[in-house]
Amino acid sequence: MPIYEYRCEACGESFSRLQKMGGGEEETRCPKCGSSEVRKQISACVVGSGAPAGNSCSSGGG
Ligand SMILES: [Zn+2]
Repeated sequence: MPIYEYRCEACGESFSRLQKMGGGEEETRCPKCGSSEVRKQISACVVGSGAPAGNSCSSGGG
């Protein structure tokens, strides 16, 4: 499951959210201050081809 990172524009708190599958878009709110002014961050982990050598995501868990 893909995890999206968010950053609160109000307090600057950064948090991650698990994207639900087969669900609609839910409003993401900051867990710290509760503000809805959050921005989705681009994850540095690139999935697919074209990934630079040396910088790979550590696979594991599950
Ligand atoms: Zn906040």
